[in-house]
Amino acid sequence: MERGSCAADRGSCNSALDCCLKYCYIITVILGAIMRFKKGNEIGSATRFGPEWAGERCGAGTKAGTPCQRPAVKRTGRCTRHGGKSTGPRTAEGRARIAAAQTKHGRLTRAAREAAKRHAQIGRAIRKELRSIEQALIAEGLLPKAWRDQFD
Ligand SMILES: [Zn+2]
Repeated sequence: MERGSCAADRGSCNSALDCCLKYCYIITVILGAIMRFKKGNEIGSATRFGPEWAGERCGAGTKAGTPCQRPAVKRTGRCTRHGGKSTGPRTAEGRARIAAAQTKHGRLTRAAREAAKRHAQIGRAIRKELRSIEQALIAEGLLPKAWRDQFD
């Protein structure tokens, strides 16, 4: 931007950015004054937290050492930027929703793991019974001891 091409430039701008910032600042100040002088103006009152704002403040310690001035919106009495991480879903419906979102294929759910355990137990019982039948048949001479070799 050339020097003097900006509406806010009164010959004091050192750069284009400086010029634009001054222009924006002037507009903001003018609009703010208009809003303030209009009677009963409630626009933006929920987000105007000047020193006269009567609502409850966060009050958490900031890096600057001063108490946080943002409005307290949490159950803990802190603002949205203070008060710690979420402690997770509380209701059964919410917990189910999170579990569904975290589940990828369902092969390792508690129900699936218990079913696999049950099936393995049944398999072990069947193999044990077959082994005992085999032993009995071999002992009675109805089955040759090396009967498995014929399948090789
Ligand atoms: Zn805060």
